[in-house]
Parts: sequence; structure tokens; C-alpha cells
Amino acid sequence: MLTQPLINRLCRDAGPPVTLARERCLRSRFNKNRCTLCLQACARRALTLGDNGLHHDAEECTGCMQCTAVCPNDAVTGSLDFPALLHEVAAKSSILLSCQKGLLGHDHIRIPCVGMFSEAMLAAINAVTRQECFLDTSGCADCVNSHCLPAIREKMDKLASRLQDKSKIRVNYYGDRHAPLPCSGKNARRSILRLFRKNITTLSKEAFNPAEPCSARQTASQDKKPPQTATVLLHALSQLDEKRKDEGATLLSYFFSAATTNQCDLCPLCTAMCPTGALHRKKQEEKRTLTYTSARCSGCGLCADFCKKKALTIFGGFSGDPHEAQPLAVG
Ligand code: SF4
Ligand code: SF4
Repeated sequence: MLTQPLINRLCRDAGPPVTLARERCLRSRFNKNRCTLCLQACARRALTLGDNGLHHDAEECTGCMQCTAVCPNDAVTGSLDFPALLHEVAAKSSILLSCQKGLLGHDHIRIPCVGMFSEAMLAAINAVTRQECFLDTSGCADCVNSHCLPAIREKMDKLASRLQDKSKIRVNYYGDRHAPLPCSGKNARRSILRLFRKNITTLSKEAFNPAEPCSARQTASQDKKPPQTATVLLHALSQLDEKRKDEGATLLSYFFSAATTNQCDLCPLCTAMCPTGALHRKKQEEKRTLTYTSARCSGCGLCADFCKKKALTIFGGFSGDPHEAQPLAVG
């Protein structure tokens, strides 16, 4: 007999829903870190933290992707290419973002689940969309991932308040029969059978390769790469013209700033600890400078946690050019 978790796996988009990069998890980088954002976001308790760091239980995972929306350091990521999604949204006049259970239309873009969007990602979509972008939640109420509905509603409310109710994203919440849709959609439930067939192959591979289950495959890279959210926000910023300066300020409010006190002695610890390369220490002649680049900061706070002198603070919001390396301390 098929168990519910197995049915869930067979009915979701083919391929593992999330990929772990354990070396990017704050808990793996600093044993005193207490981040539990992804654990709290996971309604199925599919993510756990053990002696070997983060563990993902693919049997329990229902692919809501909420963990990917909250992890500041991209230690848990989905397969969707956000910059490509932004390009597609910017190229079309009216967009419907919809999961496999939702509606289909000539201008729809398939997404794994609405749970994947953070508020900052929604702000980026809002900035690049030309007219309106519809987020389809018509299939959510009877979906195993229905817990995403209140979460997406909360994010949309926060975004609307930041944008002073000028958001171009529309959500057709379940039960709201008068909510506008860009095209006469047809139900996509039949596609579940197609996905069922596709996923049988993936599950068979996992069964015969238990040492390396697809969903727990680690990315080998330990590179200090910039956070995905900042990359997406920068892309959205680059699309704005002079007339839309207000929206630029909203996007910048999702970036971070840093400050140091005179306790900072320019030791290299925070720069070594930063997983994204936002902090940099350079030496010119006999002068050392600690610089900070907002475009690379995820706001994870690891540097501030790790600084023994508590000389560094990270806080939300930024103004100026996020690409510019700002001097924090000179000595
Ligand atoms: S949210 Fe990210 S950094 Fe925090 S515990 Fe989960 S994987 Fe680690
Ligand atoms: S500068 Fe600090 S808060 Fe920003 S990404 Fe690096 S460690 Fe995290």
C-alpha cells in the first residue's frame, strides 16, 4: 500500500525538491550559532539538526520549499532559477505563477510551490513585472502544502505595506471567486499522472543508490558566493528607470548595513567566518582596512556572533550603491 509521504513524492515535480549545502549552514560554520529558521518553517519536520549537521528526510518532505525561502545563506535551495524567472516575468505583459495543481494559461510560469517565495523575492518580482503578476493559489486549500497559504498572505501583506499598497502582484486566494485571473485557466490535475510516471524513475535511482540520496546531495562548492536573494534584488534594481526611484528604495530596504565600534582591532575572524565574502580585509603599505559590501551580505549575523569583542553590528536596510565596498574600520 502507498504511504502518504510516498504519494506526496510521486505527485510533486520530478527531481529532489531541495538540495542541501551543509557547509553553508550557519550551524555548521559556528557551533554556537542557534539558527533554526528552516526547522521552524518546515511543517512536516522533514529537516532536523544532528551531530552531522542538517539532515533532510525526503520521505517526509512535501516540497513546500518554505525552508528555501527562510535560509539566509542558501544552505537549503530549490531547483528554480530565480534570475531566469525574473527575466521571464519582465518579458511578458501579464503573468500567472502557478504550481502543478493550479491553473494553466498561455502566459503561465510553472513554479514548484508558492511557499518558495520570500518577501524580498516577491518585491523583486513586483519591481520587474510590467503590468500585473498573478500568484495562483487556487489549488492550495486541498493541497498537502496548504500551510503555505497563511504564510504567503502574511508576506503579501508586509510587502503591500512597504509599497504603500502599490503592489502589482495579485493573489487569487482560495474561495475568492471574484479574484481576477489573466486568462481562462484550465485545471492541471491530470498532469499529476505524468509526474507520477516521471518520479518513479527518480525514486528507483534513490532506492538503488542509498549512499547518495538525490535530496541530500551536497554541493561541493565552499565558495563565498553572494546570497541568491541579494542577486535577485540587484537584478530587479538594474531594471528600474529614473521614474521608479521609490521602488528602488523599497528594494534597498531588503539589503543590510554594517557598523563597527572602536573596539574593532581588524583581526581577520569576521572576514574568515562570513560565508558570502561581504567582509574583506585589505592591507596597503602599513594600513589595514576592513570593508563591507552590502550586495554580498545575507544578513545572517554570523560575523557579529563570532566577533569576540562584539565590535560589529549588522542591521536591516541600506541606502547608496550596494556594490560599493564601504570602509568599516581602518588601522
Ligand atoms: S535556515 Fe539555513 S542557516 Fe539556519 S539552520 Fe537552516 S540551513 Fe542552517
Ligand atoms: S557580513 Fe556578516 S551578516 Fe553579512 S553575510 Fe557576512 S557573516 Fe553574514
